[in-house]
Amino acid sequence: MQSPAKASSLLKTICNGRIVGVRFFSDAIENDLVVIGSGPGGYVAAIKAAQLGMKTVCVEKNATFGGTCLNVGCIPSKALLNNSHYYHMAHTEFKKKGIEITGLSLNLEKMMSAKDTAVKSLTGGIAHLFKQNKIAHFRGHGKITGANQVTVLKEDGSQEIINTKNILIATGSEVTPFAGLEIDEETIVSSTGALSLKKVPEKMIIIGGGVIGLELGSVWSRLGSSVTAIEFLSSIGGAGIDLEIAKNFQRILQKQGLKFKLGTKVMGGRKEGSTIVVSTENVKDPTKKEDLECDVLLVCVGRRPYTANLGLEDMGIEKDQRGRIPVNSRFQTVIPNIFAIGDCIHGPMLAHKAEDEGIVCVEGIAGGPVHIDYNCVPSVIYTHPEVAWVGKTEEDLKNEGIEYKVGKFPFAANSRAKTNDETDGLVKVLSDKNTDRLLGTHIIGPAAGELINEAALAMEYGASCEDIARVCHAHPTVSEALREANLMAYSGKAINFI
Ligand SMILES: Cc1cc2nc3c(=O)[nH]c(=O)nc-3n(C[C@H](O)[C@H](O)[C@H](O)COP(=O)(O)OP(=O)(O)OC[C@H]3O[C@@H](n4cnc5c(N)ncnc54)[C@H](O)[C@@H]3O)c2cc1C
Repeated sequence: MQSPAKASSLLKTICNGRIVGVRFFSDAIENDLVVIGSGPGGYVAAIKAAQLGMKTVCVEKNATFGGTCLNVGCIPSKALLNNSHYYHMAHTEFKKKGIEITGLSLNLEKMMSAKDTAVKSLTGGIAHLFKQNKIAHFRGHGKITGANQVTVLKEDGSQEIINTKNILIATGSEVTPFAGLEIDEETIVSSTGALSLKKVPEKMIIIGGGVIGLELGSVWSRLGSSVTAIEFLSSIGGAGIDLEIAKNFQRILQKQGLKFKLGTKVMGGRKEGSTIVVSTENVKDPTKKEDLECDVLLVCVGRRPYTANLGLEDMGIEKDQRGRIPVNSRFQTVIPNIFAIGDCIHGPMLAHKAEDEGIVCVEGIAGGPVHIDYNCVPSVIYTHPEVAWVGKTEEDLKNEGIEYKVGKFPFAANSRAKTNDETDGLVKVLSDKNTDRLLGTHIIGPAAGELINEAALAMEYGASCEDIARVCHAHPTVSEALREANLMAYSGKAINFI
C-alpha cells in the first residue's frame, strides 16, 4: 500500500499539478478519514479510527501533537499546580507535620523545566501512538478544498493534497482577546504566557474568575504573588458551578490569600512604566470606579472556537453566532461526510468532552450508534482543594421545577481528611425526591477530581443515592464522604455526622 504522501504526489502527477476534485477521480480516494487537528479530540479520534480499520491521516499545524491541552492547557497548568502546591506545603504545612526544612527556596527555572518535561513526554507519546497505529500525519495547515479533499499548506509554501472519504474537523479553540488590551505574553499575558513567566510577579491581576484564571492565580499566589481576580459576575468558578460550592470555594481561596473583586467590570488597562493600571467599574453602580495596579495582568475571559482559513465558507458550512461549527447528533456538518468535534462545536470546552466526541463520532462513521449524555460530563477545577461537579446544580433543579433532596457531608467529619488535616470542603449530592435517582454531585475537597468520576459512573448507570450508599467503600478514604452524602440524601441521616 502507498503512503498518503506518495499517493497524493501520484495524484498531482496525473493531474499535472492541478488541484482537482475527487468527484472526477473517485477511484483516487486513498484514505478513509482525515482528521484536522491533533488535540485530545483529534488524536483520540484518529487512534480510534485506525483501531477500527480505517486508513487515517492526521494534519497538525503545530510542531508538536496534543493541541491546547497538552501544549498550553491541561498538562502544563497541572504540572505547575502540582509543583507549586508542594512548594506551598513545604512553606506552610510541613512544619506542623514534623518536617523541618531549612533554606527552602524556589527555583522557578527548574519548576518550569519540570513542566516542559511533562509536556514533552506526553506530546512525544502521541507521535509514538500514531506510529504504532499506522496513522499517517502531515505538519501544516489543513484546509478543506472539497467534500473529499484536504489541502495541507506547509510552512515552506508547498502544498499536499489528501483525498479521503471522510473529514473530521478537530481544530479546537483559541484565547478570546480583550478589546483594547494587547497581549505581549510578558506583562499582559493570556493563559499561555502565564504558564511560562520568568519571575514571580509581585502583584498579579486576573481578568476573569473562571476555572483557568483561578488555577493559574493559585499557582502564582502559592509562589508568592499577591493575586487579585476581577470578575463581572457575583460568584467565582465559571459556568455550571453550584452556587453554594462557589461561595465555599471563594472563602477557602481567600483564606489562602487570593483577593476577589466581584460584580466588577474591567474598563481598560494602560502601561505606566513597569506598572499596569487596570480601570474598573462596579457593575451595579457605574459611578463606583477604581484603578488597580499590577506588574502582570492575566487576561482570562474565555476561549473561542478556532476555524481560521479552514475553507468552511467555500464549502457552505456556516458558523453560529459564537463562531462554532453546527453539527447534528452524529457530529455531521451540513456536508454529511464532514464531521466536527471538540472545542470548535457546542458544549463545554473540556479535553475529555472532546475525546469522547472523537471516539463516538468515529464509531458512528464506522456504522455504530452515536450517543453522549452531556449531563454526565464532569468538570474539575484543579486548585487545592479541588472542586468538581457533574449533573444538575441546585439552581438548575429549581429553575426546572424538579422536586429534589439534598445530602451533604463535610470533609471535617471524614476520617481520612481529618488524618491528613485536609478538612476544608464538603460533598453535596442532589437526588430526585420521588425516585431517589442521583441528579447531581458537587464536591469541594481533597481528591474531588478523582471522586467525581464515581458520581459520573453512577449517573451514567441511572443509580439512586441508595445504590451508591450501599456500595462498600474502602476505609479510610475520602470517598467515604461521597458515600455518606448519598446516605444522607436517601435516608436523611449520615453515620459520622449529625
Ligand atoms: C490553561 C488551560 C488549562 C486547561 N485545563 C483543562 C483541564 O484541566 N481539563 C480539561 O478538560 N480541559 C482543560 N482545558 C481545555 C482543553 O485544553 C480543551 O478543551 C481541549 O484542548 C480541546 O480539545 P480539542 O481537540 O477540541 O482542541 P485543541 O486541543 O485546541 O486542539 C486543536 C488542534 O488543532 C490544530 N489546528 C487548528 N486548526 C488547524 C488547521 N487548520 N490545520 C491543522 N491543524 C490545526 C491546533 O494547532 C491544535 O493542535 C484547559 C485549557 C487551557 C487553555
